[in-house]
Amino acid sequence: MTKNTDISAILPQTLADSLSEPKSHAEMMKHKTLTEKAFPHVRMRRLRQNSAIRDMVRENALSANDLILPIFVEEELKERQPIKSLPGIYRETETSLATAVKEASSEGIRGVMVFGVSHNKDHIGSDTMNPNGLLARMIDRAKQAAPEAAVIADVCFCEYTDHGHCGPINELGDVDNDKTIENVAMQAVVAAEAGADIIAPSGMMDGQVSAIRHALDVTGHSHVPIMAYAAKFASNFYGPFRDAAGCSLGHVHNVPTHRKTYQMDPANGREAIRDALMDEQEGADMLMVKPGMAYLDVLKELRQNTELPLAAYQVSGEYAMMKFAAEAGALDFQDVMMESLLAFKRAGADMILSYSSVDAVRWIKNQ
Ligand SMILES: [Zn+2]
Repeated sequence: MTKNTDISAILPQTLADSLSEPKSHAEMMKHKTLTEKAFPHVRMRRLRQNSAIRDMVRENALSANDLILPIFVEEELKERQPIKSLPGIYRETETSLATAVKEASSEGIRGVMVFGVSHNKDHIGSDTMNPNGLLARMIDRAKQAAPEAAVIADVCFCEYTDHGHCGPINELGDVDNDKTIENVAMQAVVAAEAGADIIAPSGMMDGQVSAIRHALDVTGHSHVPIMAYAAKFASNFYGPFRDAAGCSLGHVHNVPTHRKTYQMDPANGREAIRDALMDEQEGADMLMVKPGMAYLDVLKELRQNTELPLAAYQVSGEYAMMKFAAEAGALDFQDVMMESLLAFKRAGADMILSYSSVDAVRWIKNQ
């Protein structure tokens, strides 16, 4: 630019006018458009203007590696049964379990978690400690169907006790913590011996992680990691699961109709972090927050307090809400499911358990 260039020629008209004839500040502002007055130097929309840029700046993405599929298996079943409260989800037979695991693995799912629907219930859930019981058979069947996939054993008793609680009931009518952890340690060894790649204790008993770690270590399973249900809340979002797994409460006289003495109070965020970090101290290799969507704050805060891999469990009630809303025409199931799964990643989950895991992998491939 030479010294003689008329600067007003390259200025916006309003600014040029203001240079040529001096005006009061108020008068100058009157002639400016709203944009000129606000003058946003930083425009967030620059990075949203086309899909190429949006793809480049995207912070989180979902992949098949993130997803774990929970599977229900009922013994003595002839044909797999649809679960009314979870449209699209089935109680598999012990035979169709193999098909479901193979299918998930061939789609790219890296982990499956098996839940039994027992026909052999008793006061303590002894079937889970039997090397020929349903838990051991499911693990063995899943492992043989897809040796390349990680079989995660949910270890607890609620699906195998006649009263539906997560351990034996003591004389006070409450779940006996210390008896339960002795039993769950035995159950974990049975699961590891059946071929489980990961042990996931879900009973929220105090000391269960260290009891399991010790039992695994002294029985030659020191290589088997523990995924602790570290912050599991006494949530109302589990309703369809209990229907699916046959572990609802209230059908046995004189036992509590809730799990509030062991699962966490939904009001408590700080306690959740404390409980989860205690599992880490006890030797957990991975921590889980359950349920998912209503507890993203807990997941995020836990992410900031631990270096362990984190899992989030998108529970049955969350799946059902989206599914039934979609069936009523209120939402698009695929869109809301993918958005919700991505939200877990954003909050800090490394792994997500979802009943839509296989759907999600297929949708990711077709994107
Ligand atoms: Zn349980």
